[in-house]
Amino acid sequence: MKVELLPSSFGNGGSASQRQHLTCFLIDDIVSVDAGSLGLAASDAQRESVRDVVITHAHLDHIAGLPLFIDDLFSQLESPVVVYAIQDVIDILERDVFNWSVYPRFSELTNQHGAVMRYQPIPVGGTFSVKHLTFSEIEVNHKVPNSGFVIDDGSSRIALTGDTAEMDGFWDAIDAFAPLDALLIECAFPDEMSELADVSHHLTPSQLNRELEKFKQDCPIYAINLKPTYREAIVRQLDTLAIPRLSVMESRRTYEW
Ligand SMILES: [Zn+2]
Repeated sequence: MKVELLPSSFGNGGSASQRQHLTCFLIDDIVSVDAGSLGLAASDAQRESVRDVVITHAHLDHIAGLPLFIDDLFSQLESPVVVYAIQDVIDILERDVFNWSVYPRFSELTNQHGAVMRYQPIPVGGTFSVKHLTFSEIEVNHKVPNSGFVIDDGSSRIALTGDTAEMDGFWDAIDAFAPLDALLIECAFPDEMSELADVSHHLTPSQLNRELEKFKQDCPIYAINLKPTYREAIVRQLDTLAIPRLSVMESRRTYEW
């Protein structure tokens, strides 16, 4: 399985930087998990190949690129972009994003080939297929309706939390999928912002370290969803903690498991 975190910001020279405002993972260049920068940073080939988008939750940094992606492709789509999410997340997208005020309700629009967007509700705590991948939905602990996932391509398996605070059920659930090949877990704020992390249901390096005491598997661990302003502080604190097998996921790099 190949995973690429798309970039979402530019450095002084105009090239992509590691500051991560938006979250969007492309799996094998055809399935997107979250769509924060999908309409902005997908390559030309990825723009042509991605038609399936799985959403963890409806916070803007995870969905900002979805309306733009569909808008950009509108006239040339020969099949609809399929958006997979739990029903609560679909309801938020329809009410607050694709509501004719913020953006058109693409689920009701067609081009010359037919529908341009379709929702696929996913079963809470269940499994579903997207292309060659099997997803298992597992609830995490965030402020809004949300999903974490185990993603299986038949030969490798990864777990991804989306945004979350401390969890219990997630760790029990992913044990059933051992052995995992990788764990992608959020670390949004530095330790000195633990109060904000608590109220907004995110993790700091120290909290992540405590969470990982519940993780019994031996696989690479990647910190994701670092708030860009605090990236350097978070990286420093993670380095100090020296958590075994943990590194910070970098954008525009292909990870393969
Ligand atoms: Zn969030």
